[in-house]
Amino acid sequence: MARIAVIGAGMGAMAAAARLAVAGHRVAVYERAETYGGGVGRLARDGFVFDTGPGLLHLPAVYRDLFVKTGKESLEQSLTLSQVEPASRHLFADGTDFSLPNASRAGVVAALDDALGAGAGETWSELVNRAREVWDATRRPLLEEPLRAERTEALGSDPYPAVRRRGLFRRNAPVTLASVAERELRDPRLMALLESHALAYGLDPRSAPASATVLPYMEQTFGSWYVGGGLRGLADALYERCVARRVEFSFGAGVVGVVEKDGRAAGVRLADGSVAEADMVVAGVSPGRLAALAPGAAGPSAAGAAPVPPGRFSVFLALGGARPEGTVHRTVVHAGDRAAELAAVFGTGPAGGYGPTVTVLRPDDAATRPDDGHEAVTLTATVARQGRVDWGEERTAGAFADRLVQAAEAAVPGLRERLLWREVRTPADVEAATGAEGGGVPAPVLAGGAGAFLRPGNLTDLPGLYRVGGFAHPGGGLAHAGMSGALVAGLIVDGADWRGSQ
Ligand SMILES: Cc1cc2nc3c(=O)[nH]c(=O)nc-3n(C[C@H](O)[C@H](O)[C@H](O)COP(=O)(O)OP(=O)(O)OC[C@H]3O[C@@H](n4cnc5c(N)ncnc54)[C@H](O)[C@@H]3O)c2cc1C
Repeated sequence: MARIAVIGAGMGAMAAAARLAVAGHRVAVYERAETYGGGVGRLARDGFVFDTGPGLLHLPAVYRDLFVKTGKESLEQSLTLSQVEPASRHLFADGTDFSLPNASRAGVVAALDDALGAGAGETWSELVNRAREVWDATRRPLLEEPLRAERTEALGSDPYPAVRRRGLFRRNAPVTLASVAERELRDPRLMALLESHALAYGLDPRSAPASATVLPYMEQTFGSWYVGGGLRGLADALYERCVARRVEFSFGAGVVGVVEKDGRAAGVRLADGSVAEADMVVAGVSPGRLAALAPGAAGPSAAGAAPVPPGRFSVFLALGGARPEGTVHRTVVHAGDRAAELAAVFGTGPAGGYGPTVTVLRPDDAATRPDDGHEAVTLTATVARQGRVDWGEERTAGAFADRLVQAAEAAVPGLRERLLWREVRTPADVEAATGAEGGGVPAPVLAGGAGAFLRPGNLTDLPGLYRVGGFAHPGGGLAHAGMSGALVAGLIVDGADWRGSQ
């Protein structure tokens, strides 16, 4: 039995902690905030309840596996998980309006044909078929195996297949998501649909590799899922699972350094000056934080360090009046000016003054509202990180929130008349909640792009120190961070040569 100190109580760190405790280790988590979950937070006010982090779960299999491996109650026995139907509604500036069913390829084809004309569904479906090849080629090396230096070169090439056209295979490198959208989808609304999946994860379609097509593939294949009471319930269940497995949590316990002894990680130094000795340390924090905590170890051992990703801007709306029957859970209101949005978010143009792509979440969940005469609605947009814009400036944040509300009116008729109050969370707030520089939210890793979309591996240059969470392999998002916990636990339990579960 080893003593393991875990830095941070984010989802990746807690996933590792639960698995390590079950393997017989003594696990202690040190979290600088007063609660667990990191970015998976909850805002409760006047009987309204909102998720301040993710609002939907894709790839629930990751958490199903975690719950099966760490206790008697399954994920479904630990919380209420339901599929969202339809999966999403899409509204465009030209008035196009369609809803896509959840995890039904035939249903998606029919819906796109209906809305965009015969053949549109098949065009989309062919692209998703090619994305399946990406999934098949990368599922194991990217999601289920630790990143190894000898694999990074192969993972730098893009498995998205070339498309035969006029008898030739066209392959003009580099192939980006945007170029695939243009060549293979052609309809601007299908192109926006594809690109919106990348943008939602903070990826720039103009530079993301074609393998980013795997993102809509995963969503349309494995479905979009909601946790009763909100996604924060997943963090609650994981925390409870950790506690049941005797993981010890210390809150308000910021780690200020990793203790090194004989060339190994040997514990953590806390803000109050005390030291917690350990045989191994698992760090679930951003690269900048880790570099400060363990300067000798932070160098990426298997892949290049990515730049700070964009952040998220959220507006929480408390509305008077009942949620109308038949309201869609998630509506994406696509931006009218794609170029202005991408330039603003990814730092190639002015950061403000544009209309963002807005995701409107309207869960049909009595636990999120004081009574059925009210409704809780969440608006989110991917935005430039804190620092590029000073989101802490109240007027800047307020003006941008107005833009989200304006866009959302297309999805929520009568929004302004129903509005009781609103609260805003910017990348500056996310930075405070997670400690991640600029409030950046990391994307899942992707193959292709010469390895630029990989993340540092779970092993560090300091023996005994491991990286977990969205900033480590296999990247950000609830499912991927959960997998990072499984990978770190595998490396600790079976040793640094562990090649992934069979
Ligand atoms: C606003 C927002 C929207 C998102 N939307 C989605 C979405 O739609 N879909 C999706 O899949 N994912 C989404 N994500 C991302 C997802 O929430 C994360 O990728 C996932 O929760 C993994 O987080 P993590 O393990 O990296 O830990 P984090 O959530 O980053 O938490 C890190 C923890 O470490 C703690 N910490 C930092 N430094 C120290 C220190 N020195 N000592 C002790 N503790 C420390 C922090 O306080 C924090 O609790 C979103 C995130 C945010 C913030």
